[in-house]
Amino acid sequence: MHEVALAQAVWRQVAAEMQHHPGRTLLEIRLTVGRWSGADPESLQFALQVLAAESPWPQAALHLRTEPLAVKCQACGREFEPQELNLACPDCRSADVEVTRGRNVYLESLEVE
Ligand SMILES: [Zn+2]
Repeated sequence: MHEVALAQAVWRQVAAEMQHHPGRTLLEIRLTVGRWSGADPESLQFALQVLAAESPWPQAALHLRTEPLAVKCQACGREFEPQELNLACPDCRSADVEVTRGRNVYLESLEVE
């Protein structure tokens, strides 16, 4: 399952970060999930909850933020948020666009006590 592997990767990052804060308590994990990352936020949240429950910080709160998709037109340089699957540039109608945001899952911040 994609989300389980993703959650494990995120959790390894969390654990590595917490090694820099020995004796501290992890209160909150903020995670950004791109709309086009292919990850289902609910499954991801569930997988993370399972990992948190087995960790030294079972009380840590999880906040997932969905990041909208953004693309940049390679023809005219305009950046925009496409509607649904229409990726054509609203200015010059070029379909030569590059996805600049919304493709990844990443750890935004951790709150420790
Ligand atoms: Zn354009």
